[in-house]
Amino acid sequence: DVVGAGVELADLPLRDDLRGRSPYGAPQLQVPVALNTNENPFPPPPALVDDVATATREAAATLHRYPDRDHVALRTALAEYLTTATGVALAPENLWAANGSNEVLQQLLQAFGGPGRLALGFEPSYSMHPILAAGTRTEWLPAPRRDDFSLDAAAAVDVVREARPDILFVTTPNNPTGQSVELDELAAIADAAPGIVVVDEAYVEFSSGPSAVELLATHGHKLVVSRTMSKAFAFAGGRLGYLAAAPAVVDALMLVRLPYHLSALTQAAALAALRHADETLALVGTLSRERDRIAAALTDQGYAVVPSTANFLLYGGLPHADAHATWQAYLDAGVLVRDVGIPGHLRVTVGTPEENDRFLEVSAALR
Ligand code: PMP
Repeated sequence: DVVGAGVELADLPLRDDLRGRSPYGAPQLQVPVALNTNENPFPPPPALVDDVATATREAAATLHRYPDRDHVALRTALAEYLTTATGVALAPENLWAANGSNEVLQQLLQAFGGPGRLALGFEPSYSMHPILAAGTRTEWLPAPRRDDFSLDAAAAVDVVREARPDILFVTTPNNPTGQSVELDELAAIADAAPGIVVVDEAYVEFSSGPSAVELLATHGHKLVVSRTMSKAFAFAGGRLGYLAAAPAVVDALMLVRLPYHLSALTQAAALAALRHADETLALVGTLSRERDRIAAALTDQGYAVVPSTANFLLYGGLPHADAHATWQAYLDAGVLVRDVGIPGHLRVTVGTPEENDRFLEVSAALR
């Protein structure tokens, strides 16, 4: 018996506002075809693996010392990458990184949210936004999307004017639905927001549209653009997320971040991975084409596919009205997709061409 196994969660003096809540829980199952957490299906190229191994070996020799608390070398490399990617000249002072963009978002909520403050997001969207709000005791207000899951910018402006959130989340491309918000719409929504506007661009490399980084020059007093190396960069296991914002936003996050939150190993590995950005990102085009191939094939099979600008697709028109039963049928066939809790819909991550073929084979068989 595990020591303490008799102690129930209900026996603990847990905060009342956390009682009855569920943790984030994408199932981690060993299956032949895992298409459920929007990772890049291609493993890092051998040259990147070697460079990470060399860099972390060198960092290992310094592990008796704390790492660079302000991770300046990494922020410099991220600024260079983002400047090239967006055409907006960014300095290291505009960048900030943490262990996944989840930690970046948590730090934003710690600094700009908290008790007595309100965060607003357009649902369905990334399920961690309300969970992070709960953890920081920030009140969460869900606002709707259109029935087709796109964002109605005019309605969003009205909701934001009315609710006056301290923190506004706009996810573009949106997870789990896939659509992007146009920059002029984003600017209009940001203009209506009295507080911080967090644009979550975790999947932006897969879309052909511009980045909200372009709005920093005009909206730097409120705009924060959050990004991650978990998706396009094929670095989910490395845990590196980052943001671009005015330097004052970074000053604010320094008030809440844990000292030395990014280990020397993480900083070294991320720097090495960034040196290979061209190779890793070269596969983004392949994934976008595969996404469009899956969308067309699913549509031909009779499914209702939501248009996507990301590396995943939300689709309905399932053979069983019960999405969970369909999810289970895929799993029984060795394919793990995601039941995101939207009635009648499932989400599939774009995999390798072979994985996608298998997914499509199973999808056809289920009809
Ligand atoms: N934002 C969105 C919209 C996401 O979908 C995810 C990952 N599922 C994240 C942020 C967080 O990713 P990470 O912490 O790996 O950067």
